[in-house]
Amino acid sequence: MKSIIFAAITVAVIVLTQFLDSTGSKKSLPAKENYTIVIHGGAGAISKDMPKVVRDDYLNSLSDALKIGRDILEKGGTAMDAVEKVINYFETDPKFNAGIGAVYTSNGTHELDASIMDGRDLACGAVAGVKHIVHPISLARLVMEKTQHVLLAYDGAEEFAKQMGIKLVPSNYFDTPERYKQWQDFLMKLKSEKHGTVGCVVLDKYGNLAAGTSTGGMSNKMPGRIGDSPLIGDGTYANNKTCAVSCTGWGEKFIRNAVAFNVSALMEFKGMTLKQATDEVIYKILQKNDGGLIAVDKKGNYSTPFNTEGMFRGVATSSGKFEVKIWK
Ligand code: ASP
Repeated sequence: MKSIIFAAITVAVIVLTQFLDSTGSKKSLPAKENYTIVIHGGAGAISKDMPKVVRDDYLNSLSDALKIGRDILEKGGTAMDAVEKVINYFETDPKFNAGIGAVYTSNGTHELDASIMDGRDLACGAVAGVKHIVHPISLARLVMEKTQHVLLAYDGAEEFAKQMGIKLVPSNYFDTPERYKQWQDFLMKLKSEKHGTVGCVVLDKYGNLAAGTSTGGMSNKMPGRIGDSPLIGDGTYANNKTCAVSCTGWGEKFIRNAVAFNVSALMEFKGMTLKQATDEVIYKILQKNDGGLIAVDKKGNYSTPFNTEGMFRGVATSSGKFEVKIWK
């Protein structure tokens, strides 16, 4: 009898120590096997006449970004790390409207926005209007982890970055000839393609969801304009109960319709599936050419609807799917 009680106590202690660290706080649940990662590089009037070499360049970048996230998840990394590292990649690729390659404001400057959210506990962080930060998504994560606030903007955000030991770069670091031409075309009222925001949503092996979005905003925006991307519930949302969402498109429309939160709310309160909720928002609530989103739910289902001509996007799953696309 004594030995049975002893064995039972030993098992209980082993099980408990699996879930508690030395401080007694809860650790992540043991790894399951499935994960899903979905990325976007912006939605908009992406012409199908794009030269093959340009198209291949975009597809290669999407593949590289996706591999970074997939490898993190494959090795048991967290959804938050995958989101941050994928977006860090895009923030240094000048083809995308995030970090270097950001669009120009009407003053010829750059103002960058980003946000990140952890679906485990609704923890989130965001920055808006930063002008000297190479990786706005990482600063957003620091706002989440090191302050009691959700959103820091302009000088205050950059002052906080300095305190965190982040090196500020001169604002011309973000200049690229392509975006400059796009801005000039816009001023000349020629066709301007307003895409290139980046985002990532993840379900990791622990069943946790996370989402992040980073952007330079809309071309020729007024200085001081803040779009949906740094606003939790508009451009970004994650909740382990429902889904993780990252949006791209005409920010003002996404703010008015609280798009990212609405997807989650339709699932939680109306019992919709991820596909039903994302289709409802993109095709019924928003209008043609407003934009698109990427989303993943707690089971690993994903959805990538857009009502524009195209959306740069990709998906990778633990079952071996690996796909990058631009058009339908
Ligand atoms: N949603 C972004 C903004 O309005 C732009 C985009 O996604 O293209 O700032």
